[in-house]
Amino acid sequence: MSPEEEARRLDAADPLPTLRGEFHVPPAPGGPYAEAAYFAGNSLGLQPRRTADLLREELDDWARLAVEAHTRGRRPWVSYHELLREPAARLVGALPHEVVAMNSLTVNLHLLMASFYRPAGPRTRIVIEDAAFPSDSYAVASQAVHHGLDPAGTVVRLRPRPGEDALRTEDVLAFLEREGGTVALVLLGGVNYLTGQLMDIPAITKAGRAAGAAVGWDLAHAAGNVPLRLHDWDVDFAAWCTYKYLNSGPGAVAGCFVHERHVRDASVPKLSGWWGTDPAVRFRMDPDIAPPASADAWQLSNPPILALAPVLASLEIFDRVGMDALRAKSERLTGYLASSLAPVTEIVTPSDPAARGAQLSLRVPDAGGLTRRLAEAHGVVVDAREPDIVRLAPVPLYCTFHDCHRAAEALADLLGR
Ligand SMILES: *Cc1c(COP(=O)(O)O)cnc(C)c1O
Repeated sequence: MSPEEEARRLDAADPLPTLRGEFHVPPAPGGPYAEAAYFAGNSLGLQPRRTADLLREELDDWARLAVEAHTRGRRPWVSYHELLREPAARLVGALPHEVVAMNSLTVNLHLLMASFYRPAGPRTRIVIEDAAFPSDSYAVASQAVHHGLDPAGTVVRLRPRPGEDALRTEDVLAFLEREGGTVALVLLGGVNYLTGQLMDIPAITKAGRAAGAAVGWDLAHAAGNVPLRLHDWDVDFAAWCTYKYLNSGPGAVAGCFVHERHVRDASVPKLSGWWGTDPAVRFRMDPDIAPPASADAWQLSNPPILALAPVLASLEIFDRVGMDALRAKSERLTGYLASSLAPVTEIVTPSDPAARGAQLSLRVPDAGGLTRRLAEAHGVVVDAREPDIVRLAPVPLYCTFHDCHRAAEALADLLGR
């Protein structure tokens, strides 16, 4: 059997057949196939076909009912965000009242840090990873400044050992053990955007909390990618965007998790707005807020319904498939891609399937040029992080073994191996 036939056989035999047909797959920018082999779903996920229906229904309610749709729409807008609560809770392993869909990711990180980054006495530092996404670096530095602290002495960037690309859990734990008394907040990426490393979220959360710090997670690359148990892992807070693995469209409404012990604690300080008060009294227009004992208390504004509809469409797919089945398929696909690429190029992402999600980062010469040629000559869409990293996300909902085969052949061709 040729490698291509083998890839087709794996697609036909997989216990979770591809849901590619439920998505708009863009045409190939070049090469012999009609559709792109799309590996950029960790940057912008593909559009589910059903998204347009849910959006059209809200546009239609707005046209037909106008202001009345707040209460009389087929999905009344005053409580629309509640439709996302249970599926979002299942997605990240939370209790329903621990999650809310609101704002965008960086905004949520700031709102959550307003509550959980409370520097005091010797405990002022914020721990992030050196390869943090820039928005996270800017956010934590500005939080330090906001509290009158010098970011240079406040933000600690954890680096891998020399010559290594991934952080070792043991080194993170040792740091927290040694210096935890000076740490107010640990804020790491659950899956690192650059290397694709999946962190040991339960172990690091436990160590950070044992050291007396608050522990939050940026789950931009983890939500919809790997199974999460945020409640059981005792995570203090988390936030994630929904336009990457969650396929909810550019700039879509983000998610937010606050552990039950905090949502029940009225003394936790928050920045407030009218959507953070109890809906039963919201329209009394009282000057004093009555926050509910739920993550909803962190909401500020009435939510953008036209931006929530795509999130609802997406969560329905995750609910139907389930994260465990998706993760099992993801390990099969990523493992197949890793073994196809191993003879061709250096893989930066950990080789242990338990330490990565649906992403392989490759170290290559001229990442930008290679990315362009992959698209133009082969219809393989990947993402470049200059100067030398190319990222491929074999997203299990719509990428196939055949796509992985195409990517490996195309890279072998362009890298001359
Ligand atoms: C994608 C990503 C962001 C993007 O932030 P937005 O506020 O959604 O623009 C932030 N942090 C990480 C780790 C990301 O991967």
